[in-house]
Amino acid sequence: AHLFGTLDAPEPDEILRSNQAFAADPRAHKVNLGIGMYYDANGRVPLMRAVSEAQRRIVDGGVPWPYGPALGSETLRAHLAALVFGEGTPVPVSAQTLGGTGALGMGATLLAEAIGPDAVVALSTPSWPNHAPIFARAGFTIRGYRYLDDAGTAFDREGMLADLAALPRGSVVVLHAGCHNPTGVDPAPEDWPAIVEILRAHGLIAFVDAAYLGFGAGWSQDCAPIRLVRDSGVAMLFSLSCSKSFSLYGERTGCLMIPHQDDAAARGIAAHAAAYARTQYSIPPGHGARIVEIILGDEALRADWLAELETMRGRIIDLRHALVSTLAAEGMGDRMGHLGRQHGLFSQSGLTRAQVARLAAEHAIHAIPDGRICIAALNEGNLGHVARATAEVCR
Ligand code: PMP
Repeated sequence: AHLFGTLDAPEPDEILRSNQAFAADPRAHKVNLGIGMYYDANGRVPLMRAVSEAQRRIVDGGVPWPYGPALGSETLRAHLAALVFGEGTPVPVSAQTLGGTGALGMGATLLAEAIGPDAVVALSTPSWPNHAPIFARAGFTIRGYRYLDDAGTAFDREGMLADLAALPRGSVVVLHAGCHNPTGVDPAPEDWPAIVEILRAHGLIAFVDAAYLGFGAGWSQDCAPIRLVRDSGVAMLFSLSCSKSFSLYGERTGCLMIPHQDDAAARGIAAHAAAYARTQYSIPPGHGARIVEIILGDEALRADWLAELETMRGRIIDLRHALVSTLAAEGMGDRMGHLGRQHGLFSQSGLTRAQVARLAAEHAIHAIPDGRICIAALNEGNLGHVARATAEVCR
């Protein structure tokens, strides 16, 4: 038999399958609402102005690429910590990682080493499809907590609080910092203190995952829940992805931060993180990190980056409102009003699996079977088609 013949091939998750179906669709008017990237008005992933300038400086500077430290750029990590937790606050132990995914993977492994893999990791139902496999690979048992109301389109505060309160002490709770993937449904600012209080009172560990900072209510507002968890003193890990906020998906730039450590604990964590990096990939990629480091270290570039991110955020909000009003004009009334109240790149549309299947089969519109759509993939050229088709499959 083949050497690996006894291994079952894991099924690609629904996001990958939707993308495969889109790629294979020959129809010219096809629309991909299944992806997880921000697209501009021309349907392209933007090269942000500040990124372009930072790249120019790297090339003009003739910068070489020697091996760096296993934990990556210390300057980058300090900039990112200040950007999220505020200037002048204590710098957390941190590691530059392979995007947000790498931060989650490293954090999961460090946690399993520290508390043993018998602990429960609790994920929102639903969550990003990669969360469960990442924590399962580190050996953890996965459990869900309620997150959505019965309609599936708004936050279930009481359900989430009750499910968190029922977890064994020492469980790990994965929290989306905002712009929840796949739903776009976030706790309101006034819900966060109650969530944090449950974590504290029940001895739970927070693993806050941020992949969409700047796309919700604006950079500083989007960081507020992260700071709230940190300030509460709850044991915390924090994973940050630069993929969306800098439009640097392929560069694999991210960071794991672990606040609240005294010097001895911090040295221990850093040593474990470095050992993990050494065996997995040795050192994290330099180019994306250098780009972000240049942007954040230059006042004018940083301001321009934030301004462009603000424009991207505003464009998504405009698209949400345009979609809601076009759907209303197509006879749907306020049935899709929740799309205007959700945040970030994605929305839980509330479409059924059958309706999503019809969108693909009859209209060449590819969404995730659970009803997730990428709002940031809409533009003037496809919004009318998407609205008409959605209204039709809902009739
Ligand atoms: N967390 C969430 C919630 C995400 O949606 C994503 C990306 N889709 C990530 C983490 C990982 O981001 P990255 O591409 O930087 O690994």
